[in-house]
Amino acid sequence: MCENETHVYNSRRKNGGVWRRRECPNCLTRFSTFETILCNTLDEYVQKRIQNKKS
Ligand SMILES: [Zn+2]
Repeated sequence: MCENETHVYNSRRKNGGVWRRRECPNCLTRFSTFETILCNTLDEYVQKRIQNKKS
């Protein structure tokens, strides 16, 4: 697992936000995010998701 940018390979609008499927280009881990306007919060959210999967 790594902290690099993830690659978005699918996205979909949903209830005031954007649902995205992401893939880490280094370790090929795939996960989904639901993004709202709060982009800064999103990054923290994504990293938390990654750490949760890692542990
Ligand atoms: Zn990775």
